[in-house]
Amino acid sequence: MICLTIDIDWAPDFIIDFVRESLIDHDVRATFFVTHESPALQRLKDRPDLFELGIHPNFLPGSTHGQSIGGVLEHCMALAPSATSMRTHCLHQSTPIFQKVITDTAIDTEVSLLMPGIRPHMPFEHRYGDGSLLRIPYGWEDTFCMESRDMGRPPIDPASTGLQVLAFHPIHIYLNSDSMDDYARLKARVGNLAKANIAEVDEVVRRGFGMRSRFLQVVRQLQASGRSTMIRDVRPQLLPGSPA
Ligand SMILES: [Zn+2]
Repeated sequence: MICLTIDIDWAPDFIIDFVRESLIDHDVRATFFVTHESPALQRLKDRPDLFELGIHPNFLPGSTHGQSIGGVLEHCMALAPSATSMRTHCLHQSTPIFQKVITDTAIDTEVSLLMPGIRPHMPFEHRYGDGSLLRIPYGWEDTFCMESRDMGRPPIDPASTGLQVLAFHPIHIYLNSDSMDDYARLKARVGNLAKANIAEVDEVVRRGFGMRSRFLQVVRQLQASGRSTMIRDVRPQLLPGSPA
């Protein structure tokens, strides 16, 4: 099983749409971790056969999602009321966060533990009271790849037969980034990314091989193998009948 996950991170709608259309064109499933309300979010909701919507709560100081753990979760669950999965923004995590997720939400699976280079990635249960959260470690993320100057490492390990989770950000896909400098240049140019328009972003899209090439390569591989799955489908296979 290979899970393609997308952290929306407040990307403008035309960028979310670009990713959505690429996936639809190749009939590939994905889990989007959503950050904000927008028409593009509604368009993702129109294809539940291909797209799962999980939440991407920001628990960091100054978060626009809220000031308390409960407030952030409430805000994010309102964006995707049927969500059962999450990845926290910046992978921020703590025991109180997991406890609140288990007691107050329908989230039963989370994917906030990045473990590059560690194999195999064994999901495990974080139990609290009568509930539990299935924690799925993952091994590849676009930003980590760029920050560690490891663009050459293919996201999918063909030798692995276990579960693999890949994490992309729409902005890096669209920019075709090959380092975080591409994103920094865009921010310096447009200021508030959420308000950026297609023309000004298109001017800084990188030519040659970059994250867009990587993403489309993965999408084609998943189309050919038919191995794409969604995060929500992992728990029933690993923990059949377990209480969430
Ligand atoms: Zn994020």
